[in-house]
Amino acid sequence: MDASRRQQYLDAMGITRYVMREPAATGYPRDAVESGVVAPASLPESGRPAAADISELQPDWAALKTRVASCTACELHASRTRTVFGTGDESAQLMIVGEAPGAEEDRQGEPFVGRAGQLLNAMLHAIGLAREAVYITNILKCRPPGNRNPTAEEAAKCRPFLMQQLSLVKPKVMLAVGGVAAHNLLETDEAVGRLRNRIHYYGEDCTPLLVTYHPAYLLRRPEEKAKVWQDLQKLYGILHGD
Ligand code: SF4
Repeated sequence: MDASRRQQYLDAMGITRYVMREPAATGYPRDAVESGVVAPASLPESGRPAAADISELQPDWAALKTRVASCTACELHASRTRTVFGTGDESAQLMIVGEAPGAEEDRQGEPFVGRAGQLLNAMLHAIGLAREAVYITNILKCRPPGNRNPTAEEAAKCRPFLMQQLSLVKPKVMLAVGGVAAHNLLETDEAVGRLRNRIHYYGEDCTPLLVTYHPAYLLRRPEEKAKVWQDLQKLYGILHGD
């Protein structure tokens, strides 16, 4: 992408001053050493709420989509319009994980639509990625009523679906957007401001995982966009590193 086009996308994000680092300066192996590695998040431990039973599922997109579409493992199935499975390139190098469907997502069946989705698209374009080139999903596949946060029980019951998606996509890097996604994936309650700017590792494959602010938060707090641009630069470095 040429400089003028990138500036257009940065303008769309509301960022007018920036310095693009060379990819080599943000390569993840060095950052991982310098910033301290967070241990891979573990799967649910015994004693936690029972998860959706997908033990018989083989890694297969069609079977997984069918199972999610008919899932009744938690109470959210009763109030959803439709499940919101995920969208994008099913072999993407980047997998984005958000919180849960909102009202518009529940209507359309696609994650990150509306104003927050448009801002997410602008964020991706700023590092040369089209929305269609990444895989986007949420911690929960059904909308919590009133857009409340997911409960721990709901997140635990839905987690096997996310783990299956991760094992199928096999991304080079994951991006958790917002506190709910970060807290559920990393099993911590640290603030996003402390979790970002570090490389975490997630799942059995120790997939590098970055944390940044949710686009909906940026719409309320546009002054934080410069920090997100820093996070995107780090993401770019991982995607284009060795
Ligand atoms: Fe099933 Fe997840 Fe929907 Fe709950 S949120 S009903 S676990 S698909």
